[in-house]
Amino acid sequence: MLTATWSISSGWSAPSIVPYGPLAIQPAASCLQYATECFEGLKCYRGHDGRLRLFRPQVNAARFLKSATRIALPSFPPDEFLKLLVKFVAHEAPKWLPNNPDWRGRFLYLRPTMIGTSIKIGLQRPDEAMMFIVAVFVPADVNGPGNSASNPNSSPAPTAGPSTPPEVPSATSPPTRMKLLASKQDMIRAWPGGFGSSKVGANYGPTIVAQSEARRRGYDQVLWLFGPEDYVTEAGLANFFMLWTTKDGIKELVTPPLELGVILEGVTRRSVLEVCRSGKVGDVVVSERKAKMDEIVSAYEEGRMLEAFAVGTAVFVASVSEIDFRGKKLILPLDRGDSGGFATAVKGYLEGIMFGRFGHKWAHLV
Ligand code: PMP
Repeated sequence: MLTATWSISSGWSAPSIVPYGPLAIQPAASCLQYATECFEGLKCYRGHDGRLRLFRPQVNAARFLKSATRIALPSFPPDEFLKLLVKFVAHEAPKWLPNNPDWRGRFLYLRPTMIGTSIKIGLQRPDEAMMFIVAVFVPADVNGPGNSASNPNSSPAPTAGPSTPPEVPSATSPPTRMKLLASKQDMIRAWPGGFGSSKVGANYGPTIVAQSEARRRGYDQVLWLFGPEDYVTEAGLANFFMLWTTKDGIKELVTPPLELGVILEGVTRRSVLEVCRSGKVGDVVVSERKAKMDEIVSAYEEGRMLEAFAVGTAVFVASVSEIDFRGKKLILPLDRGDSGGFATAVKGYLEGIMFGRFGHKWAHLV
């Protein structure tokens, strides 16, 4: 793992790469008492040409700064963060993703984290902090490269290089499927003026109860709704998209807007929006706008709902096959025999960049 420490008097220490292992912090440390913790999640991809790539890491670096600032942690300059990330990956990734054909199309998950470590029990701006980056190898997934719906958090920390190369299909496979259980009105993930748009740990722990309930009932994730209008916001740890035909017959791709501050601005979300607006994956009108569950139910009942999908680094692109909205089950076209073709096209295009099927400015070579 890579670590660097910070204090208000001396700033950031020189970072070092050390063996993965426990951290020594005090029980009174600010992160343990007051949740001064933020993190990032991104992947390093072993391309089909053998090269290692990161996908838009500058966007993660900027979000890391935004999250740290929201909880009074010190800033880590994005350019410096990117340099460290690249150094760490160049050191670590070859152990996990050896440069031979068997490992092309696989990835390593990276988890940069910052914690407040100062030991004053009174609530105040931390005057000591630590930044670390760890890597998590996500085992092979039957659904193919870059498409694991498994939660990287649940994977064991790496201890040794993998021994058996996974099966990697050469063509883009269809997205994994996801069933969503809409949140109840008494369980809110984020609210205006809160911190839902920052990647701070305090946003995640409190969602585990709802997530477990969804799993218990056979769903993969919670579809987080907001307000008495039941606006859709996010799908678990991913951003949410719908493709429907409007009442005027227009094919519209809709994702909830960022303006309320209740949504994390995903790197994947931003990329899907940019790719779709450029017309590279199909002819659709792209809208960032609020959508109520009522509108989704009407579109569904009137046969106008084409697809819904969730996007994020961990899940990548996952087609939504079912939404349970307070007992009303929307079985999306995917399960009626249609293909989920739009999500597949989006996935294929982004995968092409990540695994170097074609050159693109979003790919950051290591
Ligand atoms: N929303 C939430 C709440 C998340 O935790 C994530 C994962 N970072 C996302 C959306 C997707 O973001 P990204 O595409 O940057 O992984």
